[in-house]
Formats: sequence, structure tokens, C-alpha cells
Amino acid sequence: MSATPQVPTMQNDSMEDRLYTVSYDDPGESHLDVKVPDICTDSCETSDCMAVCPADVWRREDTDDLPTIAYENCLECSSCRFACPYDNVSWEYPTTGSGVTYKRG
Ligand code: SF4
Ligand code: SF4
Repeated sequence: MSATPQVPTMQNDSMEDRLYTVSYDDPGESHLDVKVPDICTDSCETSDCMAVCPADVWRREDTDDLPTIAYENCLECSSCRFACPYDNVSWEYPTTGSGVTYKRG
């Protein structure tokens, strides 16, 4: 007879509290960028990079603005690179080779 599996306990932390538990080895330079800035400022009306990012990395006030990129908050999920309708996200793993470390789900 097999043992009853333990149900993991979940703490109902806010997203901000959970993001705070993610540590990041900052390489000192962004591993994210836009390939062609003019595409963001002249063509893109949807800001899909902002819409999909779970960590509020991409920000811009207006569709005429170039996004700012708070790369230190990046969770390396890759969503922004696939969401951009212009394939305009330059995305690399951080040069430190370690990036984020997840301590708990
Ligand atoms: S979705 Fe792509 S083109 Fe639009 S602002 Fe973001 S990076 Fe730029
Ligand atoms: S990889 Fe994920 S967490 Fe990082 S900027 Fe893109 S969407 Fe945000």
C-alpha cells in the first residue's frame, strides 16, 4: 500500500511578496533590449511586451515612447520575446550564466 502523498502548503503571498523571494545575480548590464527602437516608437501600438511580462520589466507611458527595461526584475520566462508582434525583442541569458534562482514556487 502506497503512502498518501503530502499536499504542499501554499502561502497566499501577494505577487510582489513572491517576486521578492527571487534572487538575481546581476551582471551589471541588461540581457534584454529592443532590436530596432524605431519599431517601438513608430509602429507598435500594442505594447505586448508589457502586457505579458509577469514582473513589470517593460514600461512605457505612451505608444510613442521607447520602453524602459528594468532587467533586474526579469524572471527569464521568455514571454516578451514571443509576444512582440515585430520580433523586436533581443533576449539573451544573463552573461553571469546563473540569472535568477527560485527558492520556492
Ligand atoms: S511589443 Fe515589441 S515593438 Fe512593441 S514596444 Fe514591446 S518590444 Fe517594442
Ligand atoms: S523574459 Fe519574462 S520576466 Fe523577463 S522581461 Fe520577458 S516577459 Fe518579463
